[in-house]
Amino acid sequence: MNTSTEKLTDYRLRVDQIPDTVEEILNEQERVELRRDIKQLLQERDAVLVAHYYVDAELQQLADETGGYVSDSLDMARFGHEADASTLVVCGVRFMGETAKILNPEKTVLMPTLEAECSLDLGCPPDAFSAFCDAHPDHIVVVYANTSAAVKARADWMVTSGSAVDVVKHLKAQGKKIIWAPDKYLGEYVEEQSGADMLIWQGSCVVHEEFKGRELLELKAQHPRAKVLVHPESPPSVIEIADVVGSTTGIIKAAQTLPDKEFIVATDKGIFHKMQQAAPGKVFIEAPTAGKGATCKSCAHCPWMAMNGLKSLASTLRLMNNEVQVDAAIIERAKLPIKRLLDFAEANKQKIYGAGDA
Ligand code: SF4
Repeated sequence: MNTSTEKLTDYRLRVDQIPDTVEEILNEQERVELRRDIKQLLQERDAVLVAHYYVDAELQQLADETGGYVSDSLDMARFGHEADASTLVVCGVRFMGETAKILNPEKTVLMPTLEAECSLDLGCPPDAFSAFCDAHPDHIVVVYANTSAAVKARADWMVTSGSAVDVVKHLKAQGKKIIWAPDKYLGEYVEEQSGADMLIWQGSCVVHEEFKGRELLELKAQHPRAKVLVHPESPPSVIEIADVVGSTTGIIKAAQTLPDKEFIVATDKGIFHKMQQAAPGKVFIEAPTAGKGATCKSCAHCPWMAMNGLKSLASTLRLMNNEVQVDAAIIERAKLPIKRLLDFAEANKQKIYGAGDA
């Protein structure tokens, strides 16, 4: 339904722009000591830990054990708002830290590293995106949560993967044409589900883009009783095989509520920790990420999420550094598209928090 004939720039990152996934190598003694230090520092600094489903299981566990929280980006920011602590420590990627800051401008927001990016955020530079919006003034600008504060500030609406179809259907019913950014696969999925007239920015997630339809079919044939759970940032050839297409929270919920015992999961494997907690005794299998002989840099784990580790977290808490800074004017403007989503959810009795992604 894309009615524009213009050629959109492909904002896929080059391989050399994607960092190698580096896991922390620590012995058990070091882990024990770091976990102990982090717990103590969280108390001393009046800080609370909020972690995304895709970070290391050990960090998720620490958040759970210390009165923090593990969820998707919008829900992390919501929790931060309700928490009494004056400092939020966000284990995730930069746009999550920025969203936490937008919704909690009075709090100090720290991250174990400010270098944890996201290919969707990097693939949607604010200036280029703003110029694109300016060139299409008759379109409503809808952006996914996985964008910088500056891009959100240029948008009319922000949506999560769990709310995108409903919001776009609502806008379509008002006769609106849509600019969608940044994820092209999620955009195509929303376009197909809503029938809306959409101009789709050509960004992609380096993790979900790696899932392969043909290999997934082969794996499914080996596990005929397994249900296939797919995040909609995946390519259409993968989405069409899915039994359930859902946000991170939707995928966890499906594993919990479906009667099946075995699942093939096409999203970052960090989520397996929460899935196993939510549905103990069930079997989760990673969807294949690379065709035969292909190289795979992401291998179903986000290299930027993997930058969050015990060492960097402890160091941030010790030094109180890596503070997320967002310009006050951008915060004010970026709140509007987020508030529109929350008001829409309220009016439609939808649960938006806990239904977003990445
Ligand atoms: S998994 Fe993909 S969408 Fe999520 S933070 Fe990493 S690059 Fe971004």
